[in-house]
Amino acid sequence: MSNLYTILSTQFLQSPQRIALQTPQASWTYEALHAAVGQLANWLKSLGLPAGARVAVQAEKSPQALFLYLATVRAGYTYLPLNTAYRQSEIEYFLSNAEPSVVVCDPSNHSWVGALAARVSGGAHVMTLDSSGHGSLSTASQAFEHEFEDAATAPDDLAAILYTSGTTGRSKGAMLTHRNLISNAQTLHQYWGWSDADTLLHMLPIFHIHGLFVACHGALYAGARMLWLPKLDVDAAIQYLPECTLMMGVPTYYVRLLADERFGPKLTANIRLFVSGSAPLLLETFEAFKVRIGQPILERYGMSETGMLTSNPYEPAQGVRLGSTVGKPLPGVGVRVVNDDGVDCAQGEIGHIQVKGPNVFAGYWQMPEKTREEFTSDGWFKTGDMGRWGGQTPQAEIIPPDYLSIVGRSKDLIISGGYNVYPKEIESVIDDLTGVVESAVIGVPHAEFGEAVVAVVVATQGVVLEPQAMIAALKTQLANYKVPKRIELVSELPRNAMGKVQKNILREQYAKLA
Ligand code: AMP
Repeated sequence: MSNLYTILSTQFLQSPQRIALQTPQASWTYEALHAAVGQLANWLKSLGLPAGARVAVQAEKSPQALFLYLATVRAGYTYLPLNTAYRQSEIEYFLSNAEPSVVVCDPSNHSWVGALAARVSGGAHVMTLDSSGHGSLSTASQAFEHEFEDAATAPDDLAAILYTSGTTGRSKGAMLTHRNLISNAQTLHQYWGWSDADTLLHMLPIFHIHGLFVACHGALYAGARMLWLPKLDVDAAIQYLPECTLMMGVPTYYVRLLADERFGPKLTANIRLFVSGSAPLLLETFEAFKVRIGQPILERYGMSETGMLTSNPYEPAQGVRLGSTVGKPLPGVGVRVVNDDGVDCAQGEIGHIQVKGPNVFAGYWQMPEKTREEFTSDGWFKTGDMGRWGGQTPQAEIIPPDYLSIVGRSKDLIISGGYNVYPKEIESVIDDLTGVVESAVIGVPHAEFGEAVVAVVVATQGVVLEPQAMIAALKTQLANYKVPKRIELVSELPRNAMGKVQKNILREQYAKLA
């Protein structure tokens, strides 16, 4: 029994009358969800697709889009979600690279997606699905039976391909198997204490691992309820939070909620767990949240290629939740930090994070070379993130040796005058200066040093920051080679849909600064 859907549905089929999903407009019991998934799976099957066929979907978030994902997996095909922000030239790349047999798009994009699919993905079935779940897909599937026998997939069969956000070079399709997704769902179920008494506030996009796998698998596998909003909506969140026991978000969700005075402990009295991930949670946000709400956010770390890797403890018996760290390796997940020679780093020493386990993907779609490069000869996946075990918090508190801290992507590492500069260290010091909301530290080409350190800083509203004075203040706290040569003030940092700061955009923008 290795079909991901079979596993996810084991529990909820015991209580089919429970609510699976509720939007402000409608709700679905697990029975209704299972039936809708069955109809879509029967429709997919009726197309006579080859084994492993890809179903590419660029659609607004809707319950029906989730049902389509589940139907694809249930019928043994491969789901390929696409960020709704992607434009025509980007979609052209994904379709030509993945060669999907089915392409589902918003009705407003049907004409160009249809033409594109005909050109690059010869003969794909192009269907529509809008934000309210209407379109040719729903019309077509309604004629089909609810009953469907789950495909007998093998553990290594593909369930999904997630294209990485690809801030440098072409985006790569991470191939995730049924085994990968089952193992991570089961691990998180245990570790975060999911049960059918849970109600999850779901506001994340479902084209990404966080909203689609971490959040939905968690709720489905437990037979829990999801309160489902199309995106972060502070007013709606405030309305629904009292009914919820869990919330997952990217750091900006917590920043936005904290900015609203109504967000307080009365509203969140039923919530047993707030999870943050996909981008670093500022220590300041972690602390402010704990003071206001009375419980710490649980920060975890993972990526499209690997699912979740580490988590701050859920149970107090497992340890405390420490801001500025991503916690400990999840059960069954191997995590190591090594230097450039592949040797394990000492406590507190920064190195490359490498991981191993049943959650680690099967490779990049049609990129065997790239896949080989990203694994060590002994089978560890090179995450591209840099981090350290233990060490100290920015406030000089000792971090236990089994806690991991991320210091940034290795691509973001700055080498200035031959010295390694880790942006996170500089950002933490800058963020502590009065009047600073946040910062991003980048390296820009410099004739003498190779790269020069530049800080891009957002000031608190109403505060006028003085770059030269800031540089003087930083000189008292940081070695000279780490002090930014320039500080640029901006009103906000460029972020992608998952709240990640897009340093590649900053590097381009400030390339000629030094
Ligand atoms: P994605 O594949 O889009 O989920 O991006 C994965 C990347 O996001 C990781 O490799 C990290 O660089 C970053 N990331 C995810 N969670 C965290 C976290 N809690 N703190 C810092 N970076 C994170």
